[in-house]
Amino acid sequence: MLTIYPVHAFKDNYIWVIHNQDYAVVVDPGIASPIIEYLTLNKLRLSAILITHHHHDHTDGNAELLKLFDVPVYGPQHEFISTVTHSVKEGDQLNLPEISLHLAILDTPGHTQGHITYYGSDPINLVFCGDTLFSCGCGRIFEGTPQQMYESLQKICRLPDDAFVYCTHEYTLSNIRFARTVDPGNLQLIELERTAQALRNKHIPTIPTTLALEKTVNPFLRCDQQDIVRGAQNYSAKSLLDPVSVFTVLREWKNNF
Ligand SMILES: [Zn+2]
Repeated sequence: MLTIYPVHAFKDNYIWVIHNQDYAVVVDPGIASPIIEYLTLNKLRLSAILITHHHHDHTDGNAELLKLFDVPVYGPQHEFISTVTHSVKEGDQLNLPEISLHLAILDTPGHTQGHITYYGSDPINLVFCGDTLFSCGCGRIFEGTPQQMYESLQKICRLPDDAFVYCTHEYTLSNIRFARTVDPGNLQLIELERTAQALRNKHIPTIPTTLALEKTVNPFLRCDQQDIVRGAQNYSAKSLLDPVSVFTVLREWKNNF
């Protein structure tokens, strides 16, 4: 039985710890101390580190963890991260025998040039997508193009609908405020805001989300839907003829929201 636990870090990061009774794998440790604390408290041994992209709030804990645990660090082949020991890319498979988990790698560039996503399908569908897909939103485009980011999100969307999405920031409520502005008639968004607010009032994470839910509420995944196209056209005062143009306007709008 696997536990997937969000360790809070910084203002709004989640560092996911995937573990059984003995071993743990950590995703994007931007800082080591709360991870060491969690491992010690639960008598866990670290067996691997997974990195989605090179940003410091996802990698800066590696060096200190490696002083305590001699473990492989998996990370994107197309980015330089000095602590990564095993570079991986789309098509690669990752075996984590200590926690009996098998993961596949997807290239999901856009937020950064080499960003990768880890996907597991046994015993349940899981996606560790870093700063690509967020609940009700998506990552900023720092290094890639809107086209790349759009395609990366679509690639994640082709995974099974019941997949749980473990992103790395608690941005849900502010993303919902933006989504409601774009898509004011979406009743599921209103419902999601209610449930997300109730969770946050008790300091409970709104993550994981699921792909099925995201496909009904996340405007960045719905750029081909009439309501979203209309919202983006009104904002840009242009007619937008394809989903990537709609996506580009939405991302720009969100940057200035
Ligand atoms: Zn990032």
